Amino acid sequence: MATKKIVKKKSKVVKDKKVIKKAKVKNVKKDKIKNTKKKDKVVPVKKVKKTATSTNVRVGNKTPELLRGFKDILPKDSFYWRKIQSLADQISQAYGFVFSATPILEEASLFIRSIGRGTDVVDKEMYLFEDRDGSKVCLRPEATASYVRAFINHGMQSLSQPVKFWYLGPMFRHDRPQAGRFRQFYQYGCETFGVRDSAIEAELISTGYNFLKDLGIKATVYINSLGTVEDRQNYLIELVGYLRTKRAYLCEDCKKRITKNPLRVLDCKNTDCKQVLEEAPQIIDWLSESSKNYFMKVLEYLDEVDIPYVLQPTLVRGLDYYTDTVFEFYEDEVNQESQNALGGGGRYDLLVKELGGQDTPAAGFAFGIERIISVLRRQKEEGKLSFSENRSKFFLAQLGEQARMRSLKIIEELRRAGIFVEHNLGKTSLKSQMELADKLGTAYSIIIGQKEVQDGTVILRDMESGNQEIIDQKKLKSALEKKLSKV
Ligand code: AMP
Repeated sequence: MATKKIVKKKSKVVKDKKVIKKAKVKNVKKDKIKNTKKKDKVVPVKKVKKTATSTNVRVGNKTPELLRGFKDILPKDSFYWRKIQSLADQISQAYGFVFSATPILEEASLFIRSIGRGTDVVDKEMYLFEDRDGSKVCLRPEATASYVRAFINHGMQSLSQPVKFWYLGPMFRHDRPQAGRFRQFYQYGCETFGVRDSAIEAELISTGYNFLKDLGIKATVYINSLGTVEDRQNYLIELVGYLRTKRAYLCEDCKKRITKNPLRVLDCKNTDCKQVLEEAPQIIDWLSESSKNYFMKVLEYLDEVDIPYVLQPTLVRGLDYYTDTVFEFYEDEVNQESQNALGGGGRYDLLVKELGGQDTPAAGFAFGIERIISVLRRQKEEGKLSFSENRSKFFLAQLGEQARMRSLKIIEELRRAGIFVEHNLGKTSLKSQMELADKLGTAYSIIIGQKEVQDGTVILRDMESGNQEIIDQKKLKSALEKKLSKV
């Protein structure tokens, strides 16, 4: 009974509200009609609809934060990025790799199947989510698997082998952010499909090593062989037996890895686990004769081209798809134990078939660009950077509206002739432009004002001596070329 009463009372209130609303609407209509007759209209006050943006703006104008582990590439670092990109382009081309790109978003199963369950990348670090159609997708944690997919999807096994790609792009791993470890990071990588020969590994290592060398980074290659699947299976029996006897000293993750994915124990950074691994059986002792010969041949090639390497029996790399040769690049003069690898790679002969393609051997490597930049930044601080910023020797300064217009034309004409000029069309005072030219360390300023526009000339000023000469605009290109050959 009591509940019924309350319900009744409620419905009365609701009714009353409706009555009030109706009355209001009536008044508004009346007002509208009235107002249309009157000249000095009183427009009925409309309710302002709250849109998402108007609300956001009012909430203190809070700027969204950069996500943890993500970084903006800022102009202050553009010098390094441009150098790395152009060198990656040059060196890849010289070694026969062709630029290509795959999407950042892929089917999640591509990486789960290739990198493997039990690896940190798949178990803990994938940016995995459901797409709007319910399918499981992920932001690529690396690019090798994507290239395998592309190789199969586009029927590239019918092309002349090897098929060689290079790429540079962002990867995503939900790792714990720390020095040299981000959630979005860029990789420069090369992949070779279709040939199983020690020369391929030697070529990849040579490409990577010389890429670092040309950047002025002295590096050593740490190298190991995982042999064939059979070699590995024999080794794993021995390894698991050993790890079981040392189970009590292993970290909790490695205890699980003994049964889940024992090879991953070798990747563990925990100091107790590392100590256990010192006495562990080494895979190199379990390689078949042919695997050993294959690996020895890779080392012979490296000797031939004077690439320094260190045999590292615990090096297995954190991904499951590798067979035979695996390698990593470490900067010299920095303790390998205390630093992160600049890059790494290896052979993955089974992956194309595992992902549904024809039996196709393959190998590749990838470098982390942010880690390379942090080495270069440190070198710069220490005054040891081997290259300098490629700035123009010329600054174009303008005075007056017409001169500014003419400047654009001159900039373009010189650009077509391969000469770049620094400038700042946003500045109008000659003094501030000359200060800027000075700050940039330009050798010559090209000055153009109202008079020069009319005469078809420019003033060319030697910034050091202060000497000035008047030059015909048509002869500017050849005058600058002469100056370039002297600078
Ligand atoms: P991987 O794909 O794991 O073989 O890594 C190849 C290279 O990518 C490493 O040697 C690093 O230089 C770089 N790298 C891998 N993970 C990260 C990360 N989380 N943050 C920055 N660089 C990374």
